[in-house]
Amino acid sequence: MDLTKDVKYIKGVGPNRVLLLNKLNIYTLKDLITYYPRTYEDRGKVKPLAECIDGEEQTIEVIACSKVSEIRLPRKTMQKLIARDETMSCIITWFNQSYLKNKFEIGKKYRFYGKINYKYGKIEINSPVFDEIDKTKNTGKIVPIYPLTYNLSQTTLRRIMENAMIEIKGKLEETLPDYIIKEYKLTDINTAIEMIHFPKKPEDFAIARKRLVFEELFSMQLALLALKNSYLKEEKGIQYSKNVSVKDLSKEFPFELTGAQKRVLDEIEKDMESDKCMNRLLQGDVGSGKTAVAMCAAYKAVKSGYQVAIMAPTAILATQHLENFNKTLEKKNIKCELLISAITKKKKNEILERLKNGEIDIIIGTHALIEDNVQFKKLGLVVTDEQHRFGVKQRSKIAEKGKNPDILVMSATPIPRTLALILYGDLDISIIDELPPNRKKIETYAVNKSFQQRVDNFIQKQIEQGRQAYIVCPLVEENEEQDLKSVIEICKKYQTEIFPQYRVEYLHGKMKPKEKDEIMLKFKNKEIDILISTTVIEVGVDVPNANIMVIEDAQRFGLAALHQLRGRVGRGEYQSYCILIYEPKGENIKKRMKVMCETNDGFIISEKDLELRGSGDFFGTMQSGLPEFKIANLFEDMAVLKQAQIAAQKVIEENGVEKEERLQKLVEDKFKDRIEI
Ligand code: ADP
Ligand code: MG
Repeated sequence: MDLTKDVKYIKGVGPNRVLLLNKLNIYTLKDLITYYPRTYEDRGKVKPLAECIDGEEQTIEVIACSKVSEIRLPRKTMQKLIARDETMSCIITWFNQSYLKNKFEIGKKYRFYGKINYKYGKIEINSPVFDEIDKTKNTGKIVPIYPLTYNLSQTTLRRIMENAMIEIKGKLEETLPDYIIKEYKLTDINTAIEMIHFPKKPEDFAIARKRLVFEELFSMQLALLALKNSYLKEEKGIQYSKNVSVKDLSKEFPFELTGAQKRVLDEIEKDMESDKCMNRLLQGDVGSGKTAVAMCAAYKAVKSGYQVAIMAPTAILATQHLENFNKTLEKKNIKCELLISAITKKKKNEILERLKNGEIDIIIGTHALIEDNVQFKKLGLVVTDEQHRFGVKQRSKIAEKGKNPDILVMSATPIPRTLALILYGDLDISIIDELPPNRKKIETYAVNKSFQQRVDNFIQKQIEQGRQAYIVCPLVEENEEQDLKSVIEICKKYQTEIFPQYRVEYLHGKMKPKEKDEIMLKFKNKEIDILISTTVIEVGVDVPNANIMVIEDAQRFGLAALHQLRGRVGRGEYQSYCILIYEPKGENIKKRMKVMCETNDGFIISEKDLELRGSGDFFGTMQSGLPEFKIANLFEDMAVLKQAQIAAQKVIEENGVEKEERLQKLVEDKFKDRIEI
C-alpha cells in the first residue's frame, strides 16, 4: 500500500478540498489516516424522549406523525416535523431545507441525532442529522470529531476518511515487529487505524489508541537511542590529556565543590579522556552550580590545546557567563570573549578573526555562534546552557564547527527520568542532586487575594532594607495581547497607586531582545526596585539583591514553572521569599501550593507535579522543549511510555535496529517526519 500517495487522489477530495486538507498539514494518504479524531460522539445510544435532558446531544428513535410542513419566514424557510416515540412527542425543525418536504413517511420510524431543547415542557430539536431506522449513515454509531479548519465540515472530512478507510482496508503493512505486538498485547496496525477513526464500541477506541500511542512513543524513543548509538560508532572523538585534571581549577573557586559536583566532573572527565565523543546532559536544579562544572570542563579542554564554545539562550545570560568565567579563568591566563548580536561589526569581525586564529580560548555567546562565519581553529568542547531552548539540530550545527567535539548540555529543568529519556534520549545523563551547603531555603507562602495589602507591606519593608522584588503576572491563556495588557496594567497600578515612591518597570515576551536585556540590566544594577514581568524572567539571570518573588494567580502555573520562577530569588546572601497568591479553588490546587511551600527540591517537585496533574501542561510555558505528539499524551500515557522505553532499550541492547526491517523503517520515518526532535 503506497501511503505517500497524494491526498488529492482520495475519493471525495476535489481541488478545493485539497487546499483545505493541506491547511491541516494533510498532504498524503498517510497524513490523512494519521489525522486522529479529537473526540467522538456516541450517536449509538438511544434514549426514550421522556428521559432526554435539556441541552444534551442525543439520539432518538421516533415515528413521523406528520408530513414536513414549510413555513415562510423573512428571508428563510422553516421545515417542521412532528414525531413521537412511546413516551412523548417532539417537534423537529430545520431551516432552508426544502428538499426535506417529502423525505419522511407518516408512520415510519427514523433515527435523529441533535441537541435537545425543552420549551414549555415540549421537546424541540433543531437541525438534527438523521437516518432511516435500518441505516447508519449519520446516526446509530460512534462518530469521530476531528480538529478542523474553517470551511471544512465534520461531515465532509468524515466522508473523506471513510473513503480512505475503504481504500486501505486490510492493506496497511505492519510497522511494529510481531514479537513486540505479542509481548505488549497490541492490536495490529489495520485494526488500530480503522478503530481509531470509526470505533464500533467505546472499548475499540481504547484498544486502538493504546497501540498507536505505544508506536508513537516507542519509535521516538528508539530513534533517540539509535541516534545515541550512532554517536558511539562514529569516528573517534577527542581524547583529552590525563595530565590536566578538571579539578585543577577548583582551587580557584571561593568554595569547595559539592560531592555532586565532584561526581559529575568525574563522569565528564572520563568522557573527555576516552576516545569516544561526549554527548552528555548535565541536569541540576537552579543554583546547583552547573556553571562551575562547565568551567572546569572548559579549563581541561583549553589546557589540552582546544577551544571551547559556550552557548546561552539570551545575550544577558551569555554576558553573565562571561563575567563569571573571566573572574576565575583570567588568573589562569585563559582568554574568554563574548559574541552576541549587539556588539559592533568591527568588534565582531575582530573576534571572529581571533577565534579563527586560535587567540580566543573560550567563546561565549548566543545563537550568533551558529552562524556560518563563526569558525574555530580547534573547537574541542561545546557547552549549551538551558538546553530546552535549543533543538537537536542547533546543537549539531555548532558541533559541526569542530571535528567531533565533545558536547555538554546543561539543563536546569529537573524532570523525572522517564521524561528526561524522551527529551534527551540521545544523551548520557549526569545529575547534580545536591545544592551547595548553607544555601538558605526560600521561604514560601501561599496566600489568597485578601492578603494583597499585607504582601505589599512586606515588599515595602524589604525594599526599605535595600532589596528588590519581582512580581510575576498571571498567565493569560493563549493570548499574548491580553498578557501584555495585564502586565502593563499591573505595572501602572504599582507605579501610580501602590508604590509611587519606587522605581517600577515591566518586562514581557513581546519586547525586543535588546529592550529586555536593557531592563534586566537596569534591574541587576539596582536602577529598578520592582520588576513586573511575565514568565520571561524564568531563565537564569542572577540578581543576588532581589529577594522577593510574588507570583499572582499562582494556581495557573504548573509546579515546574513555579519552581523555575522561584529560582530567580535566593541567589544572594539575603533570606529570600516567594509569595504565591492563589485562588483556593479545589483540593488539588491546595495540594500543589503545599508542595511548593514544603520543599525547594526541584526533583521532588517535578515528581509531585506529575502525580498531581496526571495530565496537562507539565512544563507550563516551557513546553517548547517537548517533542509534539500526534496522539500520545506524556502524562496520561505515562504507563505506556514506560513500556515503550523498556521495549526500545531492549531492542538497542539485544539486536540493534539494523537487524529488523520494520524497526529500521520506524526510525527512518521518525527522522524524516520530525528532524527537530
Ligand atoms: P546553576 O546551576 O543554576 O547554573 P550557578 O552555577 O549559577 O548555578 O551557581 C549558583 C551560585 O552558587 C553561584 O553564585 C556559584 O558561584 C555558587 N556555587 C557554585 N558551586 C558552589 C559550591 N560548591 N559551594 C558554594 N557555592 C557554589
Ligand atoms: Mg545556570
